Amino acid sequence: MASNTLHSSRPDLISPEVLYELLRRLPVTEARFMEVCGTHTVTIFRSGIRQTILRETNVELISGPGCPVCVTAASEIDQVAQLALENKDIILTSYGDLFKVRGGRLSFAESREKGADVRLVISPLDNLNLARKLPNKKILFFSTGFETTQPGIAHTILMANEKGIKNFLVYVSHKLIIPVLKVLLDDSRLALDGFILPGHVSTIIGEEPYSFIADVYKKGAVIAGFEAEDVLYAVYHLLRMKIENKPRVINIYRGAVRRFGNKRAQEIINEVFDIDDAYWRGIGLIKNSGHRLRAKYRDFDASEYFGLERAKHDEHQFGHCRCGEVLLGLITPLECQYFGNACKPENPLGACMVSSEGSCSTYYRYGERK
Ligand code: SF4
Repeated sequence: MASNTLHSSRPDLISPEVLYELLRRLPVTEARFMEVCGTHTVTIFRSGIRQTILRETNVELISGPGCPVCVTAASEIDQVAQLALENKDIILTSYGDLFKVRGGRLSFAESREKGADVRLVISPLDNLNLARKLPNKKILFFSTGFETTQPGIAHTILMANEKGIKNFLVYVSHKLIIPVLKVLLDDSRLALDGFILPGHVSTIIGEEPYSFIADVYKKGAVIAGFEAEDVLYAVYHLLRMKIENKPRVINIYRGAVRRFGNKRAQEIINEVFDIDDAYWRGIGLIKNSGHRLRAKYRDFDASEYFGLERAKHDEHQFGHCRCGEVLLGLITPLECQYFGNACKPENPLGACMVSSEGSCSTYYRYGERK
């Protein structure tokens, strides 16, 4: 076991009432914890945890940059949407939550309205079915996501390679969790006391890569599932670690997350992708925080095939949308002047209001108002 990693009992055996009572019994302490992942943000709002925690403790829960759609660089969306518009041989595919997210100039939805062939897929493997059915078209998949979804696309590329499918291309816009955690920890404006870490990403990478949070930064972190009990238990552990000044990485998602993660999934990812720098919307360049296809799979690389540029550092050109500050946890959506008036889910100005796991959208849908 890593020096600062602990396991813990199953939170689903403890009711929310008991967990709230446990929290009330701890000494009153101010603390700022970040839930990195958009799925946790949704749980926190849907189950009323935010309001109860705010009312009964001095704990502040801050939403982080773990919504992959929200952090997709605008210039990447623009480039690929424009390419699909200009090239009638292309069928552009993406997951549904990216469809309406605007770059600086275009979204995939707008590109389709203007005549591009844009289709939504549920699984990366859907692309191979399309490629087989439509051999005269190029199927261009815009691949976003953190470690959770990366084994699926890696597997798809391996299958396409094995089956000799030549009309399938991937635009790689992946993000990695560890580099962005370091950015957050290094940002003195945030002054975080700890993290609630995403259970699904952790099933792939395991506990071990997080150990630096406690060992180097002396902060607590809890790997948690996505039920209300998981989040409450995570807050309880984080608060205790802060009070006792004993930072650890605690895994309360033990049924799914192992110390070294899913080795097979990691092997597939590493077989297909190399680590690369990546641009994050509103944040900018983060070294070694993304992927590129390895040379042996370059035949599937849409950037190479179409000569696309790497994402540019243009991520702050969004008028007055403050998505970047929201993603970094520097402000809440309520502090944006457009929240709930000019910017709503049906008329979003920024990515954080488009994605169902974006902070602005979650605040709005669960009734937070200024
Ligand atoms: Fe951007 Fe809208 Fe969120 Fe404001 S409310 S930060 S404009 S997405």
